[in-house]
Amino acid sequence: MQYSKKSAFHTSLTKFNSIVIIFILSNCNLLAQKEYPQNYFRSPIDFKILISGNFGELRPNHFHTGLDILTENRVGKNIYAIADGYISRINVSSGGYGNALYITHPNGYVSVYAHLKSFKKELETYLDSVQRAKQQFEMNLYPLPDKFRVKKGEIIALSGNSGRSYGPHLHFEIRERESEEPINPFLFGINVKDNVSPKIFSVTQYNFTDDIDWDNFSKKKYSSINERTLKTNGKVGFGIELYDYTSGRHNTNGIYNLTLKINDTVYFQSQFDKLSFYTNRYINSYIDYGERIFTRKKIIKCFIEPNNRLTNYLVKDKNGIYDFNDGKKHRVEIIAKDFYGNSKKVSFKVQSDTTYITKNTNRGKHFKQKFYFQKINYYDTRELKITFHRNSLLYDLEFQHYTSIPKYRAFSKIHHIHYQSTPLFNKISLAIRVDSLPVFFCDKVLIAQITNNGSFKSIGGKLIDNYVISKTNILGNFVVLVDTIAPVIKPINIGKNSVLNQKTVRFKIFDNLSGIKSYNGYIDNKWVLFKYDAKYHLIKCDLGKENIKIGKHKLILKVSDYKENVATYESNFILK
Ligand SMILES: [Zn+2]
Repeated sequence: MQYSKKSAFHTSLTKFNSIVIIFILSNCNLLAQKEYPQNYFRSPIDFKILISGNFGELRPNHFHTGLDILTENRVGKNIYAIADGYISRINVSSGGYGNALYITHPNGYVSVYAHLKSFKKELETYLDSVQRAKQQFEMNLYPLPDKFRVKKGEIIALSGNSGRSYGPHLHFEIRERESEEPINPFLFGINVKDNVSPKIFSVTQYNFTDDIDWDNFSKKKYSSINERTLKTNGKVGFGIELYDYTSGRHNTNGIYNLTLKINDTVYFQSQFDKLSFYTNRYINSYIDYGERIFTRKKIIKCFIEPNNRLTNYLVKDKNGIYDFNDGKKHRVEIIAKDFYGNSKKVSFKVQSDTTYITKNTNRGKHFKQKFYFQKINYYDTRELKITFHRNSLLYDLEFQHYTSIPKYRAFSKIHHIHYQSTPLFNKISLAIRVDSLPVFFCDKVLIAQITNNGSFKSIGGKLIDNYVISKTNILGNFVVLVDTIAPVIKPINIGKNSVLNQKTVRFKIFDNLSGIKSYNGYIDNKWVLFKYDAKYHLIKCDLGKENIKIGKHKLILKVSDYKENVATYESNFILK
């Protein structure tokens, strides 16, 4: 369908050259639509494609870069190479993509298959040998092109639920080889049935002052706005809460194309044909980040903040903000479309009311200094030093900072660093001064972020000259703590001198603060492979694969956290 649209466009190009060129320049949408090979790639599965996630879906701190293909509620379904090529990457991780394969195809694309249960036999054998040689479970391997060639339709793996997957599915991507940028798989004709329109849940009006302080605005949310008339004045942006759905499924998907029109002129348009891992974090500027943090609602902003470099915005000369200052009535339309053209529209009127005044947002109580997004900004006090590297901010802001005294044992004051609702694009460097730290804690200090529910999340840290130094890409509340507590190892199916008739030994491992850094198991003093699934805190060793013979053996498991606190489990067992 995409292909034929494009061919018709080419014919007209030759006929009405000059007219069409002007048309192209004014319509980035068509420019963005490149020709993608159709019928080159087959489906990665051999049953109907149903998805629980689409390309461009809004996820925490990133847009989803592929399709989440359902695997009939089970693991172990055959996964097929979508075209000829070679295995260019094998990735094994306790989180993230879990077990993942990458195939490089001769036509310039790479296909990615993630959350797998296992790989085909020759890959498993190869992986196992490298894991043993390096004595490490997590792997990131780039085999040479001649090592593992695959044919279109060949079974390359079994589907699973590994890594950060919360239910059996295949995470599937197609990336451009050169740029490594993921492309919407629908553009290649990998399709799902979809005749369901998106649903709109609310529209939010953002009022800015004349000189626009992007960090400070007033907003008003409307759950039903269609055909209503709003009264306001001055610079206004709109946000929308909406989801897309596919036929026969209840789960929500991301929206493919979103357009804001004011008086029939397009002021904003976003579209998800392509993403980039370099700009994926701008999702925190695409959506209302504060709403996401505090209410978990995903409101898409139909306006673009100054340092947002997402390439999915199709209108280049407007930022989506409209100045309703003329006392007249204006027509606003927001149109949401999915990839297959199913659409939903909300339209309303805005009456510019010149008696309405957007309140001048006050400088926050703890205003310290003005920061500029185009510069490197330093904040330098005795208690706290911060470097905002270039492009870590999305807009200029009036930086706020104050301290308070913790009611628990900590080694610094609590630093309230600006607003948690202000997104950062790049990491900033943080140095917090410590008070009276005993020498024996020097290697155990870290900076913890205090989350919304009051728990601590370590961002690591190193002590240098009375300061604990680390990096963070979130703002909010931070404090210096120490981690002196070793991880906890909880045996599941093994005890002291137990007799095992199962082939797999399983444990759960936990850490209180700095996080699990490494885990190593030994049977009869020989290193054995333990596989780790972080989401279940589960670690397991296959005694069959380790060639453990019937009889008495000694197992040692050592688990270390990032502050070098080590837990050791030791037990004899008899294999029956
Ligand atoms: Zn996914």
